[in-house]
Amino acid sequence: MPAHRTLALVLRTVEVFETSVVATLFTRELGKVSALAKGARRPRSAFQGGLDLLGVSDIVVFPKASEALDLLAEAAPIERFASLRRDLAALYAGFYIAELLNDLTDLHDPHPRLFDAARITLRHLGESDLRSRRILRFELACLRELGLMPALDACAHCGAAVVVQGDTVWFGLATGGVLCETCRAGHAAVAALSGKDLEAIRALASPGRAWRELDASSAGLAPARDTVGAVLSHVLGHRPRLRP
Ligand SMILES: [Zn+2]
Repeated sequence: MPAHRTLALVLRTVEVFETSVVATLFTRELGKVSALAKGARRPRSAFQGGLDLLGVSDIVVFPKASEALDLLAEAAPIERFASLRRDLAALYAGFYIAELLNDLTDLHDPHPRLFDAARITLRHLGESDLRSRRILRFELACLRELGLMPALDACAHCGAAVVVQGDTVWFGLATGGVLCETCRAGHAAVAALSGKDLEAIRALASPGRAWRELDASSAGLAPARDTVGAVLSHVLGHRPRLRP
């Protein structure tokens, strides 16, 4: 297969053989790849700084058709996220972004918009007041890009418009979003949200700046966080390990 040049976010590296590395990369054009970087641990290798965790690099990769690893020919650093080096909470949040990309996406399944969303999120993780909302937005961006976005307006089961009744709305954690009063009865794992909590999730899932104005106290954001976390756990089949 021909060589591909693309931007890549370094999710994970494992040392192999004497001097080599197997890198898991989330690339903009090819999606996730697992590639062998021969001699990457030699001094003055062609990969110097290009395989630093959570960095963005310009890479050249030879994809393999079979089960074999792709072959990494070059990796040159393009962007380092400075806040990840000086702020431990930002670093852990960065590792969580990497966990989501690694666990939710398949090899060679490109999602350029998700790559861009990850890059922007990593760039701003140092802003502690917005961090938890940025992570929620990234989680929702993952769900949307992968076709797993929960319904937020019409019933996930029958499509009827969902109205908030007595400030309670039913949210099916395993059925993909809000449920009308009729459909709610037939489903397990249904959470009760307030109208305000649903509004918060809608704002976090939308473009624009409304998400910045949400009640950012941990209590104010807790129902939205718990709901999105439960949806992710359902999709992954386990709780995300590094969720802040
Ligand atoms: Zn329904």
